Amino acid sequence: MLTGIGTFLADLRALVECESPSSDQAAVARSADLVAAIGTARLGVPPERLTVDGCSHLRWRFGDGDRQVLLLAHHDTVWPVGTLAVRPYTVEEGVVRGPGCFDMLTGLVMAVHAVAGLPDPTGVTLLVTGDEEIGSPSSVALIEEEARRSRAALVLEGSAGGGALKTARKGTSMYEVHVTGRAAHAGLEPEKGVNATLELARLALATAELARPAAGTTVTPTVVTAGTTVNTVPARGFFAVDVRAWSHDEQLRVDRELRELTPLDPGAVVEIRGGINRPPLEERASRALFDRAASLAARLGLPPVTGTAVGGASDGNYTAGAGTPTLDGLGAVGGGAHADHEHVLVGRLADRTLLLRELVAELLREAP
Ligand SMILES: [Zn+2]
Repeated sequence: MLTGIGTFLADLRALVECESPSSDQAAVARSADLVAAIGTARLGVPPERLTVDGCSHLRWRFGDGDRQVLLLAHHDTVWPVGTLAVRPYTVEEGVVRGPGCFDMLTGLVMAVHAVAGLPDPTGVTLLVTGDEEIGSPSSVALIEEEARRSRAALVLEGSAGGGALKTARKGTSMYEVHVTGRAAHAGLEPEKGVNATLELARLALATAELARPAAGTTVTPTVVTAGTTVNTVPARGFFAVDVRAWSHDEQLRVDRELRELTPLDPGAVVEIRGGINRPPLEERASRALFDRAASLAARLGLPPVTGTAVGGASDGNYTAGAGTPTLDGLGAVGGGAHADHEHVLVGRLADRTLLLRELVAELLREAP
């Protein structure tokens, strides 16, 4: 590292101690101020501040942005303001703890220090968003736009077990299945009603059947609600569906088959709301970058690089969905994302930052 581990940990501590839950836009704005200050100190230039729907994102662009190398990080966390009082920033026996240290403030500091260590950062764009943990509603357009002008997207989410890079992520789809029937008195004339609860029950079973375990596709009915009073044939209700799939084709299949479901009672009306949310990060999008990182690590004498596929989604899903080669999980080695035992291994900060820097340098050296 150009600046050394002391500076790295000081930057990380400052960021962990500036709480930034995605849902608190004032806190996210304060965090953006701090990221901008730290980044300006290390990189020598201030970022562009991009405020979208009240949410603060930052972008450092070196060069004209044509066929660039994109480094993607987020500065929001899942931890509400006040978490720090219970679980403060600490470094003990080579382990950093504190809210957001693993997901992904360490990765963010790595990105800044890696770019700062490049002899010439021309051709790099560093995008730091503020709403990843809530699905990136205000940054998705920005992320996709940057991805489309990039030859590679390197995502600084924390690594999987043992430091493994994330070479595939499932895509997500979210639906609501609504049924409209007809109300009637359950004692006097139930035969005149159309029972939405019964239709929802049948449709929930049929929906679960759309899963394809061999392909890793899960289709899970979750929240359900129907009816008004205990003695009324329910006129309406809905259930929610969570879908996860390794391939876009599987997302399309489930979408099509879900929309083909029909009610048993012809008097009921079924309406499907929602759709495909994040596309998958398919393994083919990461393969070349992963191979490059692995051989680079071997050449530099760094710890061996491994890769793994994970179910959870990140902004890497969006860059891969935009058709950009994407490698994810390049951030901290540690664990406990979104959990009380969140932690980062100090002993792996230097080699991971070096790997990132050299990966970027190698991509920049190639003819665009
Ligand atoms: Zn994250």
